Amino acid sequence: MSKVFLTALGCRLNEAELQRWAQEYQSIGYAITQQPEEASVIVVNTCAVTGEAARKSRQVIRKHHRKSPKAKMVVTGCYASLEEQEANEILGVDLVVPNTEKDQLVAMTQSVLDIPTMPAMATEPGAPALFARNKERAFIKVQDGCRYRCTFCIVTVARGDERSRTHESIIDEVNQHVADGIQEIVIAGVHVGGYGSDIDSNLFALVQDILDKTEIPRIRFASVEPWDLPDNFFTLFENKRVMPHMHLPLQSGTDSVLRRMARRCKTAEFERLVNQAREHIPDFNVTTDIIVGFPGESDEEFVQSLDYIEKVGFGHIHIFAYSPREGTKAARLPNHIEGPIKKERSQKLHDLAEKLKQAEMSKHLGKEVDVLWEGSPQQLENGQVRYVGHTPNYLRVYSDISPNFNLSNKIVRSKLMLVSKDMIEAIPDLTDIEKEGAPILLSQ
Ligand code: SF4
Repeated sequence: MSKVFLTALGCRLNEAELQRWAQEYQSIGYAITQQPEEASVIVVNTCAVTGEAARKSRQVIRKHHRKSPKAKMVVTGCYASLEEQEANEILGVDLVVPNTEKDQLVAMTQSVLDIPTMPAMATEPGAPALFARNKERAFIKVQDGCRYRCTFCIVTVARGDERSRTHESIIDEVNQHVADGIQEIVIAGVHVGGYGSDIDSNLFALVQDILDKTEIPRIRFASVEPWDLPDNFFTLFENKRVMPHMHLPLQSGTDSVLRRMARRCKTAEFERLVNQAREHIPDFNVTTDIIVGFPGESDEEFVQSLDYIEKVGFGHIHIFAYSPREGTKAARLPNHIEGPIKKERSQKLHDLAEKLKQAEMSKHLGKEVDVLWEGSPQQLENGQVRYVGHTPNYLRVYSDISPNFNLSNKIVRSKLMLVSKDMIEAIPDLTDIEKEGAPILLSQ
């Protein structure tokens, strides 16, 4: 049986695309391998969010060609879309598929690379997927592209205009994951709030349809730009299957910097949105992205940003020190910030982010929540095993228990006991958990 090796750099969206192509390759009779050496086709989903990411993408392509010189090499993703000519000239590349043609990638590898379609003994619909990044959670790409032009962003250039998948194709994919035992889907896209803008639908209608037409226990959102959300959006969270957490990239806590970034959402609207969510949804957790050291960011602007971030409060903050990306407007802005200043500001924001995270976790101690326990446990010296999982509002938890109980990929009511570094120790209710043989342990 011919085998395909799929790998991605960069964002969750690139991951979600791999999962979908894996299902498509299986439906034409290909097996998915984790060993590039075994593959007759290698697909590399590249990234170009920074110059460094593009360099790493080229490195991965060359590495896999060296390891499997006979394999057909398919290169796609943001680097391949922005530098199509250059990607085509890399030794070993047989096919470059730009982002705008990603939906036809599997068909193109068949037609352009003339790879044979396997006989019908291939996997049938409902047959377990051979490729899932983990057993618990699947990323679902619902749309691609973005109509906005934030000045630091290359993604909008690389991924083009907004294109939404149909409800039907998304629901089919979700039902496939349910059949595979997946407990949680993560709705991903470039501008998720813009879902449906091109097909007369919207994010509310889509999620409502997924709730109505699938049995998926948990629905989570990946990163969602804090605008273009349908008016009644937060009523979705009244359904316990919709997880009370959103990652809403703010990028800066100062309007003057947000203007230079050409961000649609300023501090007042962002605060209104978060307050609306918190009023509506108990235990709602907001996480965010912040860029420090954006061109022209003065000491006053940075301090103002810190004050605003502290006022709003976040469960987690991804911090990025600004790095110019060729091809973006921001790279051509004046007054770029010196490295040491960026480093100092990152550290200050890290300290604040840690304080806010501890406060968010402490708020939930003593509560009993449905934790999704993930993956294989780690063996502990005292003979117990440690499981790790996530609460509905995306707090990371752990539990040390007897190896006779298997929590992998189970949603179990658990009591949140105490904060320990960046996790919460939890006690799962093992009443309904059958005693099983020794679990498969995480390799040391
Ligand atoms: S909204 Fe997001 S994807 Fe669109 S341009 Fe801005 S940062 Fe990029």
